[in-house]
Amino acid sequence: MNQFDPSHPIDEEFFEDVFLQEIDSWFSADIACCESCYKNFLATWPRAYYANSEEFQTSQIQLDLFYEGSRINSFFTWEQFSRLIQDLDCPRCGEKFCYTIFPYNLPFDIHETFEDDIVAINDIAQKTPFLLLKNEFALSVLTEVVPPGETVWRLG
Ligand SMILES: [Zn+2]
Repeated sequence: MNQFDPSHPIDEEFFEDVFLQEIDSWFSADIACCESCYKNFLATWPRAYYANSEEFQTSQIQLDLFYEGSRINSFFTWEQFSRLIQDLDCPRCGEKFCYTIFPYNLPFDIHETFEDDIVAINDIAQKTPFLLLKNEFALSVLTEVVPPGETVWRLG
């Protein structure tokens, strides 16, 4: 066994699970985007660039550095890692990972379709604003904000 052999080999079918567990272990985050889509991510969430002491900027990592610095090298050889990483897709854009990934979680929870919902609301607001409250997401937001707003108005 040389220095590049894993000390605890694992079946390759578990690569994705181990990879994501190691990302979470190191960064306490999921993969937000990759080098193919980070500009789109930041266009959608511009405050993420500086939020939480620039956490987004400091959490980006190149795949080779991740391999060297994480425990994944205990389970897979560099050859396996390099080959198997090509089977994984970016959760944001669906492209294959190139060189850099961005582990990051927004500091609040959003539902899976939130960004699509905002795009749809913006589109409706631009084209047919009178139909905005026919949108399911807009109605759900209205339902959430009206009761607190009514309380504030009564106090004022
Ligand atoms: Zn991507």
